[in-house]
Amino acid sequence: MAIANVVVMVTAIVALSVMPTASAPPPPREHGHARQQPAEVARKPVEAPPRWAFPPPVTATAESARKAKANEAGLVPVIMYHRILAKPLSDLDRTPSEVRKELERLARSGYVPITAREFATGEISIPEGSHPVVLTFDDGHPSHFAFDEQGEPAKDTAVDLILDVAEKHPDFRPVATFWVNREPFGLRERSEQSRAASWLAERGFEVANHTWSHHNLGVLSRKRVREQIVRGERLLTKIGLKRSETLALPYGSMPRSRKTARSGSWDGTGYDYKGVFLAGAEPSRAPYDKDFDRSAIQRIQSNGKKGECRKWCSKYWLDWLDDHPKERYTADGDPERISIPEKLRGNIAPKRRRQVNAY
Ligand SMILES: [Zn+2]
Repeated sequence: MAIANVVVMVTAIVALSVMPTASAPPPPREHGHARQQPAEVARKPVEAPPRWAFPPPVTATAESARKAKANEAGLVPVIMYHRILAKPLSDLDRTPSEVRKELERLARSGYVPITAREFATGEISIPEGSHPVVLTFDDGHPSHFAFDEQGEPAKDTAVDLILDVAEKHPDFRPVATFWVNREPFGLRERSEQSRAASWLAERGFEVANHTWSHHNLGVLSRKRVREQIVRGERLLTKIGLKRSETLALPYGSMPRSRKTARSGSWDGTGYDYKGVFLAGAEPSRAPYDKDFDRSAIQRIQSNGKKGECRKWCSKYWLDWLDDHPKERYTADGDPERISIPEKLRGNIAPKRRRQVNAY
């Protein structure tokens, strides 16, 4: 799969080099489990954000885990989107209807979105029997988020599509991760950037760092890599967000010293990520897997099955996961325990072994 990864990445570089730049912030999170939100789930009101109530936590037993076919050592699709355009300009662009169809498919198949931060830290609080999916949007394009004249998410933006699908499928938790550069969502005014960031953060969306100007970090000196990351972080702080806990590498390109992407400092400002994300081409291991590498987390490009996406993109992998249910992450509904078939016990990272509930 290393080869496929390179192929997809190279295409991404070509396509992305014509894209606008943007920068990033981090988000706040509703965590904790049975955090019941007020019952109003209305989609439209500006002042009453839709809230997804976490399911009441259950205590998984060997019996309940077996019944749910839980496998919390299974694979998780982390889907990577770029622009959403009615008339795509590059292979990476998707139309609103393609995105909607993919989200509908995920909802119907029992997937529940979690953020990249929740995934990287293993804070996965989704109902028993469901599967986590991470929806990620790179480059902070206006087609990811913009306000309409009423101050609502503009039609056919990523946020609009996600909320719309969640309205029809109440188990589909409306969250996603937006990795932005120096002009988040194409906005230049600091006040506009702050308004967008806080709207998203208040609703549980993650906005995090995709570096300042979207350079290929693989060709920069260590110092310049740190500068790119820190300048992105500083912007996020200025627009009212917390430090990013995740980073997406521009073009999926790793700095020569991979440690530099994970943590470091420049000009007196430090960073230390819980997860660093690549650009593609296969589902990620679960965060509890002993071979999970939080410095290089795999993603899948959202796309059909044409050309190089005959394999390696989302249509291919979502079909594959449907055909290989035992390979897929299935939750036990218990945020504290890691439920797995007995034969997978050895796959769990040593630090997590006391949480194992095997059946
Ligand atoms: Zn990018």
